[in-house]
Amino acid sequence: MNLAPYACDPEHSRGRRHPVAPAPTRNAFQRDRDRIVHSTAFRRLVYKTQVFLNHEGDLFRTRLTHSLEVASLARSIARPLGLHEDLVEAIALAHDLGHTPFGHAGQDALDACMAGAGGFEHNLQSLRVVDLLEHRYPDHDGLNLTFETREGILKHCSLANARRLEAQEPGGVGRRFIERLQPGLEAQLANLADEIAYNAHDIDDGVRSGLLTLDQLDAVPLFARHCADAQRAHPRLSEPGSGRRLLYEAIRRMLSAQVYDAIDSTRAALAAAAPRDVEAVRRAAPLVRFSTTMRAESTELKRFLYEHLYRHPQVADTTERGRQVVRALFAIYLERPAEMRESFARRPDRERAVADYIAGMTDRFALREHERLTGQRLFT
Ligand code: MG
Repeated sequence: MNLAPYACDPEHSRGRRHPVAPAPTRNAFQRDRDRIVHSTAFRRLVYKTQVFLNHEGDLFRTRLTHSLEVASLARSIARPLGLHEDLVEAIALAHDLGHTPFGHAGQDALDACMAGAGGFEHNLQSLRVVDLLEHRYPDHDGLNLTFETREGILKHCSLANARRLEAQEPGGVGRRFIERLQPGLEAQLANLADEIAYNAHDIDDGVRSGLLTLDQLDAVPLFARHCADAQRAHPRLSEPGSGRRLLYEAIRRMLSAQVYDAIDSTRAALAAAAPRDVEAVRRAAPLVRFSTTMRAESTELKRFLYEHLYRHPQVADTTERGRQVVRALFAIYLERPAEMRESFARRPDRERAVADYIAGMTDRFALREHERLTGQRLFT
């Protein structure tokens, strides 16, 4: 690995909260990645909703396949920039560990349930998973990841929560939200790769589900341009029955364009800011970026997906039922904590324990619990 001076270097990591002896052949970030892949929360991502509920089809993205696509895109961009590929991969694989069942609807419902007890933020929850909620080591809770991976996982955080984190861990991962600093480049990159991944795969899932059409997507320049290019380069793609191949070729071209735009624009930003090391990166403006044009086009695509896919009546209907499940489970566990797994039932911080328990559920476990406790079946 050709590491740039502004990359995070495992040899100069700010370390783990519980010191460990170095591994004989793996660097600290590789070790973080392995710890994440072997965690229970990671395995659960396969049964958690990205946009389409888990049981709606076998070929839609789940949080697991989404996370793998983010990791793959992020590594592709990291290598030519000289960033640490293992770190960017670890952050990408962990970035959605704190997501509730039923996608954003689940998170919004849980946040509303927790309004009087500190709220619920999925980024902060991802950090809670790797810091506290995995119980796999003899002497401590959590996965004991390096500062740099944890810094990347905590993508956003409210000021109130940042102050709470800072009180528990002075100078830790909450500090940058108080001082308004940036995270390392690998964290910035995992964030951009997340956006590249979901914009592309949500078009793919949207069209294959029948909720979006290629005609509708003509209104989105970023997609339409690559779709037209693909048809010009491969006239067969305009023949009847070639819709899928056209879709895939257009998305492939759109992904490439975004990856190369991110590499070029970030290179230019790094050349202009000339950060000497990762501390200089943290004090600079965000350096991992798209060009101005790509930023505008990506935002437009996001707006399109929001309006036509995420708020599509069919998606809204299923997510509303997901919301009901979360609300009902929260009320029941709060009143009857013994219905939860014992390690959650005996915790004194009742609301947070309930939120942690629900957030950790897969879609189908939440549905089974809901049916067991209410006798209702919301999805058939
Ligand atoms: Mg994501």
